[in-house]
Amino acid sequence: MQYCKRCVMPDTKPGVKLDSEGICQACCAYERRKNVDWKARWIELEKLCDKYRRDDGYYDCIITVSGGKDSYFQVYVIKELMGMNPLLVSAASIFTSTETGRRNFNNMSDAFGCDILSFNLNLDLARKMTRIGFEEKGFGAMPMDLIIYVFPIRVAINYNIPLVIWGENVSYEYGGVQKGETYSAKDQIYNTVATPIDLKYWEKKGISKKDLNSLVYPTKEEIEKAKLDPVYLSYFVPWDGHHNYQIAKKYGFRDITHEWKREGYIEDYDQVDTIGYLINAWLKYPKFGFHRATDVACYWIRSRKITREEGIKFVKEHDHKLDQKMLDDWLAFTGYTNKEFWDIVEKFWNRDIFEKSDGLWKLKDPVWKRESIEPELKTLVST
Ligand SMILES: [Zn+2]
Repeated sequence: MQYCKRCVMPDTKPGVKLDSEGICQACCAYERRKNVDWKARWIELEKLCDKYRRDDGYYDCIITVSGGKDSYFQVYVIKELMGMNPLLVSAASIFTSTETGRRNFNNMSDAFGCDILSFNLNLDLARKMTRIGFEEKGFGAMPMDLIIYVFPIRVAINYNIPLVIWGENVSYEYGGVQKGETYSAKDQIYNTVATPIDLKYWEKKGISKKDLNSLVYPTKEEIEKAKLDPVYLSYFVPWDGHHNYQIAKKYGFRDITHEWKREGYIEDYDQVDTIGYLINAWLKYPKFGFHRATDVACYWIRSRKITREEGIKFVKEHDHKLDQKMLDDWLAFTGYTNKEFWDIVEKFWNRDIFEKSDGLWKLKDPVWKRESIEPELKTLVST
């Protein structure tokens, strides 16, 4: 397990490869931003919007949303700055929503004056699939990850709205299996965040084609025929979650500070809409040796909000923590007991990077043991 020398991302993350200098792709991509002509890309976005702008009153485009800070930012750019008439499309969480999340979701429609089309997945099916995905692959929310990618594309085809605005290209921005930078999100489904449904696999598990109807990604032919043009907004504007949060707040978005202090988290404004879903992120810890504190510390180091040494301190203090409220909500939905959960997780601890001592799994060679850490944690980002 090697860590990027610039941020704190380990090379155990799927798709991450450090270059000859020991730097990860996400850091290299961030550095390349300096050479991008953002003004020219903004003009490209204007041209793209003009291409799809309609004068008959129908929706010009779809924006995929969750109600989070990035959703607010997407709507802000597309509706407020580009003057488009978007339809917002969302897949409801299969887990309990936070109060803050419900409020942010409703407020988004109100603050921007937009219609939202939302899909509720069959919960019985979602539970079965979540349990199978967890037991076999250590995933925490397999059907949820899929429906987020599939539903907006289905809507785009069925409603005949070719332009679909996604947020960031996660593979390019944060490091993943897809290397190149492209404005088109046509291949997003293959970025391994969600994997296209394998009907034969699920049929063997007793789940029929009929049950899976909503989760089947449209074929390339269907997408071509509908002339879909799904795009990443992060190609056109430099993506910064913290900046998006600042914009979102101006439109009434609230962070979760007053509702819930999430263990293992170093910020209060990202993924604040749902509770049990976040187990999905924690499951990266036993499998790959990192969790949200690493992710967020990496964003902040790259954008110079904190030093690498400060990031390492955050990772040491928070990355291993699993919030009990998250776990309780996830268990309530899936039906496992605490013990059953930990018994299943036991097989996913990556033996190459963890060792067991006194009954607990610990990283053999964590980043903070390799590097010197500055004694004082400097001031954190202002909110
Ligand atoms: Zn890096």
